[in-house]
Amino acid sequence: MTIFYYSIVFAYGLLIGSFLNVCICRIPLEESVVKPPSHCPNCGTRLTAVDLVPVFSYLFLRGKCRHCKAKISLKYPMLELLTALIYLPLFYKYGQNGHYIEFFAAAYLMSILIVVFFIDLKHQIIPDGLVILGLAGGIALTVYNLFRPVAIFHDRAWWNPIVGMLAGSGFLFLVAIIGLLIYKEEAMGFGDVKLLAAIGGYLGWKMTLTALLTSIILSALVSVILMALKIRDRKDHIPLGPFIVTGTYITLLFGWDILKILYPSFV
Ligand SMILES: [Zn+2]
Repeated sequence: MTIFYYSIVFAYGLLIGSFLNVCICRIPLEESVVKPPSHCPNCGTRLTAVDLVPVFSYLFLRGKCRHCKAKISLKYPMLELLTALIYLPLFYKYGQNGHYIEFFAAAYLMSILIVVFFIDLKHQIIPDGLVILGLAGGIALTVYNLFRPVAIFHDRAWWNPIVGMLAGSGFLFLVAIIGLLIYKEEAMGFGDVKLLAAIGGYLGWKMTLTALLTSIILSALVSVILMALKIRDRKDHIPLGPFIVTGTYITLLFGWDILKILYPSFV
């Protein structure tokens, strides 16, 4: 039976991943994610159900458009797989024993964050629409928590997610303001500030700060490695968004273990 549930979650991840592809391509261009329906970027032929089965269509068509034989980028099936593989551990951690709301909340947040990851990496922006979708989900989860406390928060207090929204983003806001005053340029985007407010609504304040700390450590590590390999120098701007996304995922899975190591008295 367990295998059955995990297969459903995997298929669900592939499907959502297929939609996230559309979001990643269209949102930065300010295009609608529903209209027009998916089409081949080369010949413009509208794709039908046969072309749109996640991963399988790519394999079946051997990576080529059915009409014009133009190559389909491998990034599409890869993102579908990635989304499914991100969902599975979330289901293991949160979806057991019928805690489906927790799983869907975590999967919803991560889906938004996957889109943020790739858009911020390529365009150095975090679209407000994504932040608003994230905030809306966080508020819904907060309200749900009033009636049936959710395990994600680990803390029944009704104000926990609200303080979560303020804690991480407040800290980043200060950093951004100080950066503006000293360097006269937006060293750290306000998109990151807003993103952390959205994440706070899901994680509560302790886990939000853990996620922020994890992101900053990851970002420092990767920057040092990139500089050592001379891929980037000190002046190159590396967006924080992708690290916040990775840090949040690590925190969703291992946050309380990390906190136990860093501040045992805090747990
Ligand atoms: Zn085509």
